[in-house]
Amino acid sequence: MSDHQHMFTGHELDRSTDERTDPAWVEALKASKEARFLLFARGKPLVDLDTGGGVTEPVLLTAAELERVAAGALEDAILLGLDAAQSPLFAYSIGAEQDYSGEGVFEDVRILGIQNRVARAQLARIGLAKSLLEWHRMHGFCATCGAKTNIGNGGAKRDCPSCQREHFPRVDPVVIMLVHRGEKCLLARQTHFTRNMYSALAGFIEPGESLEESVRREIMEEAGIEVGQVRYHSSQPWPFPSALMIGCHAQGLSDEITMDTKELEDARWFSRAEARDMLSQNHADGLFTPFSFAIAHHLIRAYADGEV
Ligand SMILES: [Zn+2]
Repeated sequence: MSDHQHMFTGHELDRSTDERTDPAWVEALKASKEARFLLFARGKPLVDLDTGGGVTEPVLLTAAELERVAAGALEDAILLGLDAAQSPLFAYSIGAEQDYSGEGVFEDVRILGIQNRVARAQLARIGLAKSLLEWHRMHGFCATCGAKTNIGNGGAKRDCPSCQREHFPRVDPVVIMLVHRGEKCLLARQTHFTRNMYSALAGFIEPGESLEESVRREIMEEAGIEVGQVRYHSSQPWPFPSALMIGCHAQGLSDEITMDTKELEDARWFSRAEARDMLSQNHADGLFTPFSFAIAHHLIRAYADGEV
């Protein structure tokens, strides 16, 4: 399977893993006139919704502009990486939208994804920044000894000054799988889904299980379907807050659905033709799949197009 160019991939930044271990190097980058800063408030990036032609772009602040937004912000800004022109890109989060009064608006990242008006590399940078900022916000204290932690390596880790433990950003693996059985596939609704939307089943991988075991367990728990072959399709970083969606196709071996009513509101088999109609939003009952910014869309698309 070739690489899929999913949304939230392709940020094209050099993370400078070695260089950033030198605090003086990071400080010099922050002070350089090329340095730019993405600003967030409660997980929402600051964007210019229409820079012309309906294109949305993140607002990039200079170091001086960032310092005007919040005194001391430079110190806590985290380095995302260097772009192709070797210009450093940082991210910083303020406490609330009201703390900023300049140009641009703070927009929900899911809405940016659905609207599909941000270039893929830019959206990937926004996703990377959102995940990292959220991790830093949640890890201000050492999980081992409880002391306050400090930003290390320009934001690639946090260090505990008390017990010396290093803490690294987490990625949470999630399996998302389309179960198919010949000419039908299984799609389900969680209660919080947008009305009429059906998607592939998904769940967190638990300690002590392989990818394949996780797929089989989730499908059995949520739909009571036995599964044979599991095939990997592609993966997508999902910054809500920090998941890696691992997309698979799973061969169903039984028909009768026993739905987990705590997790799901509905689960049904749909024909290949129906899946196609749901992807293109032409289903007779108005049912539809997630939009193309989510990996689920592409898992269903591959099945609908006869690739599996
Ligand atoms: Zn500690």
